[in-house]
Amino acid sequence: MREGGCACGEVRYRLTSEPLFVHCCHCLNCQRQTGSAFVINVLIETDRIELLAGEPQVVAVPRSGGKKQKIGRCPTCQIAVWSQYTSPGVRFVRAGTLDDPASVAPDVHIFTRSKLPWVDLPDEVPAFDVYYDTNKLWPAASLERLEALKAQ
Ligand SMILES: [Zn+2]
Ligand SMILES: [Zn+2]
Repeated sequence: MREGGCACGEVRYRLTSEPLFVHCCHCLNCQRQTGSAFVINVLIETDRIELLAGEPQVVAVPRSGGKKQKIGRCPTCQIAVWSQYTSPGVRFVRAGTLDDPASVAPDVHIFTRSKLPWVDLPDEVPAFDVYYDTNKLWPAASLERLEALKAQ
């Protein structure tokens, strides 16, 4: 099982199952938030993130369109370990905070319209200018998990 945490070690978490899906997002919001070219988000049910230590502090971060995005940060070192968009049942764990970031790989590249020009994407991974149709791309098992969430 995958574990991860912040830089100072106060926040530690474990993912108790495989992700629903893994996004590599090249949008301008993610670039600004990370100070980098893209973010790698591990989508997983909130109740499948087992907090082993610490309690992330939720910060509401403005993003384009006037909306705010909740980002869970270590209260001490302020490293972002996850974010939450519309559904509280799903979190976007930042793959770079995993102890083994190589244990996941993007299932899809999104918002490639703002992809930095020197980033080359692999041919075998689907890529979209903006977003994609979940029903067309997610494996059946993940779609079932999503349905289970909506039924709650
Ligand atoms: Zn920390
Ligand atoms: Zn993004």
